[in-house]
Amino acid sequence: MSVADAQRQILQDANPVQTAEILALEHCLHRVLSVDLCSDLNVPPADNSAMDGFAVRHCDMNTSERLRIVAKVFAGAAPATIDKGQAVRIFTGATIPHGADTVLMQEDCEFDDAWVRPTSIPKKGENIRPCGQDITAGQRVLLAGQRLQPAHLGVAASVGAAELTVRRRIRVAILSTGDELLEPGDPPVANKIYNSNRVLLQALLGNLVADVIDAGVVADSLEVTKAQLKDLSERADLIISTGGVSVGEADFVKQAVSALGSLSLWKLAIKPGKPLAYGHVGGTPFFGLPGNPVSVFATFTLIVRPYLLRLQGVSGPVLPQEFDVVAGFDWHNPAQRQEYVRVRLSQSAAGANVAELHPNQSSGVLSSVAWADGLVVIPPGQRIDAGESVRYLPINQLAGF
Ligand code: AMP
Ligand code: MG
Repeated sequence: MSVADAQRQILQDANPVQTAEILALEHCLHRVLSVDLCSDLNVPPADNSAMDGFAVRHCDMNTSERLRIVAKVFAGAAPATIDKGQAVRIFTGATIPHGADTVLMQEDCEFDDAWVRPTSIPKKGENIRPCGQDITAGQRVLLAGQRLQPAHLGVAASVGAAELTVRRRIRVAILSTGDELLEPGDPPVANKIYNSNRVLLQALLGNLVADVIDAGVVADSLEVTKAQLKDLSERADLIISTGGVSVGEADFVKQAVSALGSLSLWKLAIKPGKPLAYGHVGGTPFFGLPGNPVSVFATFTLIVRPYLLRLQGVSGPVLPQEFDVVAGFDWHNPAQRQEYVRVRLSQSAAGANVAELHPNQSSGVLSSVAWADGLVVIPPGQRIDAGESVRYLPINQLAGF
């Protein structure tokens, strides 16, 4: 199954959570808006000055004549009024005086406390930010289904909203399989390895503001595994396991999921990360990711994360965006699987973004992901020569906010 087909199928299956809650703005970062936000106000509420300077009538201006300063207005104060031959000292953000149509910036004039003379004449209307230029009263400023980034919160604040209605957080249960696993902090044991997937998934889910139900390493018995999965399925919106999904492998998670619901084992045409299990425990969706931490990273970010964004209620595009960069390496992918190689960008002398390859692309080398700032996509059967354009996925987008 191609990555694109898996993504399509997964996204069709995702049922967004419907429950919403009202939260103070400062708690809404990266949550998904559930109800459109409309503005009752114009932003800005009145024509105001974009500069420190003098509000004037354009028809009065002339580089050889002085205008009399009749008032001084600061941001937030009530507007003044000017008449023929007059000017008002004005500061950035202050409301334009009645009668004025232009702001002369203070760098373009000579002035003292009483008089101002333009040294160059701006165009009529210059340096005035019109009422409602950002938002007009009645406008829908944020749409339901929007994942809230810092600027969205700033916009909500600008129309006076103190709280927003957002979808509830999703709960994701994670568990690891593997008799070889130790937990960080345990003393080293010969032939055992530390569990990297647990904290990797915790962190990836944390960046998605999901609530993690951490079930640790699954116990080595079918009955215990079934009981545990059943319990998790009643508490979680999604269950993710790592390890033990290779074909033919004895693994109680796979057996237990099949017994409690349904399980499909996919041979994803992806490297790293070929085996992927997708199914349901009761009504709760389940992803069985491979064991290799690099494969976990790839399958989570390319398949599970888009699915989770849909569950959270995101209505717009959820698949990672690709950018064209220049290959700084040769690569031949003779296989049927789409490869995702770990790269770091550097700037060429001509200013192009050139992707340099990590020297070890083995799926067992998690430090290649930590080193990299992105993944380059190598389609099946493709030969890449240095200097050619390739598709690049930034890690801060794949794994980040
Ligand atoms: P598996 O898919 O269970 O065959 O695991 C594939 C490889 O990933 C094996 O070398 C495992 O030892 C390793 N592995 C599995 N789970 C973890 C984990 N939680 N942390 C680090 N390595 C793991
Ligand atoms: Mg295993």
